Amino acid sequence: MIMADIKWKIFPVAQNVRERDDEGGTMKFRKKPVIVEASRWFKSGDNPAVTEWQGYVEDRSCPDCNTLLSRHGSIRTLEGRHIVCCGDWIITGIKGEFYPCKPDIFEATYERVEG
Ligand SMILES: [Zn+2]
Repeated sequence: MIMADIKWKIFPVAQNVRERDDEGGTMKFRKKPVIVEASRWFKSGDNPAVTEWQGYVEDRSCPDCNTLLSRHGSIRTLEGRHIVCCGDWIITGIKGEFYPCKPDIFEATYERVEG
Protein backbone atom coordinates (compact mmCIF):
# COMPACT_ATOMS: atom_id res chain seq x y z
CA MET A 1 0.00 0.00 0.00
CA ILE A 2 2.80 2.39 0.81
CA MET A 3 4.44 1.75 -2.59
CA ALA A 4 1.19 2.54 -4.38
CA ASP A 5 0.89 5.87 -2.58
CA ILE A 6 4.44 6.83 -3.47
CA LYS A 7 3.93 5.93 -7.13
CA TRP A 8 0.81 8.10 -7.26
CA LYS A 9 2.65 11.09 -5.87
CA ILE A 10 5.57 10.78 -8.26
CA PHE A 11 3.56 10.01 -11.40
CA PRO A 12 0.15 11.67 -10.93
CA VAL A 13 -0.18 12.68 -14.58
CA ALA A 14 1.05 9.50 -16.22
CA GLN A 15 -1.76 7.45 -14.67
CA ASN A 16 -4.50 9.68 -16.08
CA VAL A 17 -3.21 10.86 -19.46
CA ARG A 18 -2.92 8.55 -22.43
CA GLU A 19 0.16 9.39 -24.47
CA ARG A 20 -0.71 7.26 -27.53
CA ASP A 21 -3.96 6.25 -29.20
CA ASP A 22 -5.03 2.58 -29.39
CA GLU A 23 -2.83 2.00 -32.44
CA GLY A 24 0.16 3.72 -30.82
CA GLY A 25 -0.16 6.85 -32.95
CA THR A 26 -0.58 10.51 -32.21
CA MET A 27 -3.80 12.10 -30.95
CA LYS A 28 -5.31 15.52 -31.47
CA PHE A 29 -5.01 18.22 -28.79
CA ARG A 30 -6.32 21.74 -28.41
CA LYS A 31 -4.38 24.29 -26.36
CA LYS A 32 -6.12 25.28 -23.13
CA PRO A 33 -7.34 28.89 -23.27
CA VAL A 34 -4.53 30.66 -21.43
CA ILE A 35 -4.80 34.41 -21.02
CA VAL A 36 -1.59 36.31 -21.68
CA GLU A 37 -0.77 40.00 -21.68
CA ALA A 38 0.55 41.56 -24.86
CA SER A 39 1.30 44.90 -26.46
CA ARG A 40 2.74 45.87 -29.83
CA TRP A 41 6.24 47.26 -30.13
CA PHE A 42 6.95 50.02 -32.63
CA LYS A 43 9.96 51.92 -31.29
CA SER A 44 12.44 52.12 -28.47
CA GLY A 45 10.65 52.91 -25.21
CA ASP A 46 7.38 51.16 -26.09
CA ASN A 47 8.05 48.19 -23.81
CA PRO A 48 10.56 48.07 -20.93
CA ALA A 49 11.44 44.44 -21.79
CA VAL A 50 12.65 45.47 -25.26
CA THR A 51 16.09 47.05 -25.43
CA GLU A 52 17.85 48.61 -28.38
CA TRP A 53 19.15 46.19 -30.97
CA GLN A 54 22.95 46.09 -30.90
CA GLY A 55 23.62 43.01 -32.97
CA TYR A 56 25.91 44.40 -35.69
CA VAL A 57 28.27 47.32 -36.16
CA GLU A 58 27.21 47.54 -39.79
CA ASP A 59 23.57 48.51 -40.19
CA ARG A 60 22.00 45.83 -42.37
CA SER A 61 18.44 45.10 -43.42
CA CYS A 62 16.38 42.66 -41.41
CA PRO A 63 15.62 39.46 -43.35
CA ASP A 64 12.08 39.42 -41.91
CA CYS A 65 10.86 42.96 -42.56
CA ASN A 66 13.56 44.55 -44.78
CA THR A 67 14.00 47.63 -42.57
CA LEU A 68 17.34 48.56 -41.01
CA LEU A 69 18.37 46.57 -37.96
CA SER A 70 19.07 49.81 -36.09
CA ARG A 71 15.29 50.35 -36.01
CA HIS A 72 14.79 47.04 -34.22
CA GLY A 73 14.57 46.01 -30.62
CA SER A 74 16.00 43.09 -28.70
CA ILE A 75 14.28 41.02 -26.06
CA ARG A 76 15.48 38.31 -23.67
CA THR A 77 13.36 35.16 -24.05
CA LEU A 78 13.66 31.68 -22.52
CA GLU A 79 15.58 30.69 -25.67
CA GLY A 80 17.97 33.63 -25.52
CA ARG A 81 17.97 37.10 -27.09
CA HIS A 82 15.51 37.66 -29.89
CA ILE A 83 15.21 40.46 -32.42
CA VAL A 84 11.98 42.52 -32.37
CA CYS A 85 10.67 44.02 -35.63
CA CYS A 86 8.51 47.13 -35.74
CA GLY A 87 4.92 45.99 -35.18
CA ASP A 88 5.75 42.70 -33.44
CA TRP A 89 3.63 41.81 -30.44
CA ILE A 90 5.43 41.32 -27.13
CA ILE A 91 3.67 38.61 -25.15
CA THR A 92 4.12 38.07 -21.44
CA GLY A 93 3.66 34.36 -20.79
CA ILE A 94 2.01 32.68 -17.82
CA LYS A 95 5.33 32.51 -15.92
CA GLY A 96 6.26 36.12 -16.67
CA GLU A 97 8.49 35.21 -19.59
CA PHE A 98 8.53 37.38 -22.72
CA TYR A 99 8.44 36.42 -26.33
CA PRO A 100 7.90 38.35 -29.55
CA CYS A 101 5.24 37.30 -32.03
CA LYS A 102 4.70 38.36 -35.64
CA PRO A 103 1.39 40.20 -36.18
CA ASP A 104 -0.08 37.60 -38.58
CA ILE A 105 0.66 34.74 -36.17
CA PHE A 106 -0.68 36.76 -33.26
CA GLU A 107 -3.94 37.55 -35.03
CA ALA A 108 -4.40 33.89 -36.00
CA THR A 109 -3.69 32.65 -32.47
CA TYR A 110 -5.12 35.19 -30.04
CA GLU A 111 -8.37 37.06 -29.54
CA ARG A 112 -8.89 39.99 -27.22
CA VAL A 113 -10.55 39.39 -23.85
CA GLU A 114 -11.96 42.08 -21.61
CA GLY A 115 -10.43 42.88 -18.27
ZN1 LIG B 1 12.70 43.13 -38.82
